[in-house]
Amino acid sequence: MTDWREPVLVGFYLAASLCFILALKWLSHPGTARRGVRVGEFGMAGAIVATLLHADIVDVRWIVVAAILGAAIGAVIAVFVPMTAVPQRIAFSHACGALAAALVGTGEYLLNRSSISTFTMAVLGAEMLLGYLTFTGSMVAFGKLQGVVRDRPYVFPGQNLVNGAALALGLVLVGVITAGPSRVWLLPALIVVSLAVGVMLVVRIGGADMPVVISLLNSFAGLSGAALGFAIGNPILIVAGALDGSAGFVLSVFMCRAMNRSLVNVLFGAVGTDDTATGGEHRPVRSTTAEEVAMFLDAANLVIIVPGYGMAAAQAQHKIRELADLLERRGTEVKFAIHPVAGRMPGHMNVLLAEANVPYDHLVELEDINPELARCDVAIVIGANDVVNPAARHDTASPIYGMPIMNVDEARAVVVIKRSMRAGFSGIENELFYLPQTMMLFGDAKTAAGELVHEVSRLPGGVSA
Ligand code: NDP
Repeated sequence: MTDWREPVLVGFYLAASLCFILALKWLSHPGTARRGVRVGEFGMAGAIVATLLHADIVDVRWIVVAAILGAAIGAVIAVFVPMTAVPQRIAFSHACGALAAALVGTGEYLLNRSSISTFTMAVLGAEMLLGYLTFTGSMVAFGKLQGVVRDRPYVFPGQNLVNGAALALGLVLVGVITAGPSRVWLLPALIVVSLAVGVMLVVRIGGADMPVVISLLNSFAGLSGAALGFAIGNPILIVAGALDGSAGFVLSVFMCRAMNRSLVNVLFGAVGTDDTATGGEHRPVRSTTAEEVAMFLDAANLVIIVPGYGMAAAQAQHKIRELADLLERRGTEVKFAIHPVAGRMPGHMNVLLAEANVPYDHLVELEDINPELARCDVAIVIGANDVVNPAARHDTASPIYGMPIMNVDEARAVVVIKRSMRAGFSGIENELFYLPQTMMLFGDAKTAAGELVHEVSRLPGGVSA
């Protein structure tokens, strides 16, 4: 391209790259996350408009049709998908992105194979392998999170060996096609093997580990995009792909650390095959009522609210914020304890509480809240289970042993809001429920929080909700 469009395109791409970097930076804190999303959207819009200026595009009609269709589908998804279904929505988006990158790579190969350089062919081959495997891997992750594919890992003896051999076959095919790009008859084999590797890698991972897998697949999709950028000479794809690839990988590592697991253990350990855990229905627990809890809250100076997946499932965040406001107006100090893997996706609790307008300075991270729990009068555990299970500290046989947890058992009184004695995500019993200071408030999180709001507002000398 030699006309006026080239400097404009470069300028737009530079601005878009800057927007993506700023978006990542701002997305890393709840207080600036909204700004991060906006600047990312702005950068993406700029990158799309600039790409339309490309001299090789002679007719934009079909591109405009596709853009309108894609934007309409995206808008419907954004409006109608509930917060609890966001993890599977993300998996679906990755599948679409990876498929798009793989198809563009395939088209590039088919159109230019007679004149392609060895380097470009190698990059395109790797890009197709990664793109297609990320597509099926993400679709399996979507299926597990949506409940249409079995949650527990599919395992058989020698599985890691078979998976390794399939991946090696894919790499060999990439090598053979790179050595002779005219061997186009090998392309279907490469596509089928890549699609199969994606399925084989992810079906053996339990539903519990899907968020980690999704962020890793996000990383693969980014790398695949970056490789495509090299192959077709598009700088914005290289920048965006590299950012996506590295951010996804770092996130996967952070999540593994928060669960005290290694990435290798998540990918190849087939954790979650034990389906026998039932929770401890037969041991006695102390059950309570909203009225009794209100009396405890009346006397409390510091209340710490510990949200978990159940709060998200019940959409109880608004009611619990109402309760916190009410308590604060009565002079009680209220804090929210945020565990990095509470819920089903990174930042799940931050997003929900931000949606309910809980001030960011009320959200306290794990390492900062633990010292406070010992001086806490009432800890309200709402829909959380694994992240408050003391077994993680001392029971070496427990699957969650070593996972950093919130030391709720150190609080003077503990109220646990959940519907039954069923286990949490990891399928194990929680000894917190049997401690003398623990009271179980059985029921749906939203209903129970609503009852608490009602009872606290009826307390003598109180303020209404
Ligand atoms: P858990 O899954 O351990 O527990 C959630 C609890 O919520 C359940 O015990 C359930 O009990 C209760 N619950 C469900 N629905 C409702 C409802 N409507 N009202 C009231 N209670 C309800 O969640 P945590 O947040 O404590 O822990 C997260 C788990 O997810 C950890 O094991 C973590 O490792 C795992 N994980 C998280 C990831 C992330 O990115 N956040 C990634 C990968 C894994 P009951 O059925 O009796 O109501």
